[in-house]
Amino acid sequence: MFTFVLARFFAALLMVSACQLKKDATAGTGGSATDSTQAMRDSAAYFAAKKAKRPKIVHDSTEKVIYLTMDDGPLRGSTYLNKIILDKKIKTSVFIVSGHIRGFGKYFEDFRANDFVEICNHSHTHANNKYLQFYANPQGAADDINQCDKLINTNNKAVRLPGRNIWALPARVHGITQSGGKTAEILREQGYKIFGWDAEWAHGAKSQAPVKSPEQFVGLINGIFKNKSMWTKNHLVILGHDEMLTTEKGRREFPVIIDMLLAKGYVFEHITNYPD
Ligand SMILES: [Zn+2]
Repeated sequence: MFTFVLARFFAALLMVSACQLKKDATAGTGGSATDSTQAMRDSAAYFAAKKAKRPKIVHDSTEKVIYLTMDDGPLRGSTYLNKIILDKKIKTSVFIVSGHIRGFGKYFEDFRANDFVEICNHSHTHANNKYLQFYANPQGAADDINQCDKLINTNNKAVRLPGRNIWALPARVHGITQSGGKTAEILREQGYKIFGWDAEWAHGAKSQAPVKSPEQFVGLINGIFKNKSMWTKNHLVILGHDEMLTTEKGRREFPVIIDMLLAKGYVFEHITNYPD
């Protein structure tokens, strides 16, 4: 019996690896949610396999690639986000605030068990939303990111700084002269990659609901691809927030936006495959 389970595991593992190498990201990264795969999701072996380093996926220059990144979870909205990702089967990178795991541990585990989700680092405290104060101590802010890194225990060093649209990759940086830039430099020295965003699925400050209609937001995305006004040509990073999905409007419009972007032929990819 054990041998059988093991064989099924390695067969599925091979399938995951093969899919990872496919350029069509929307083809998915895992098998169907049969009983056996569900069992694997609950096993240490599954998490070890998910954590294993994989070759970086390189898209050819004709493809238009979207990196869907969702920030601040695990929070109340994360359970809706997780379900929509599973339903739509699109690669998504979630930037986790590790200080939220204590209160929303179940949702964090759901993310970990979701084949389409990649877990990344969005700090431990989110600067307690006092960004100038937080970045006034660049090393202290970097330590906060390192604390999150230990708690989320991933195989990647992908970071989004709280409250800052700053990029710092091995060979190039962007937006680094603002407050937070020094923290980004420290983290880059430590081997992290810092990701900003090109377009925000914006929400009302109080309502948390999306401010643009799906048509308006997808129009914005199409315009950025057309004008090549993203940081890296043909590679567009979208920022959204889990908490938008606590609103009925957010839950209704998010899947519509995904369908519209897929219909345009855009490919969804994990942020760790963003070009250096
Ligand atoms: Zn945030």
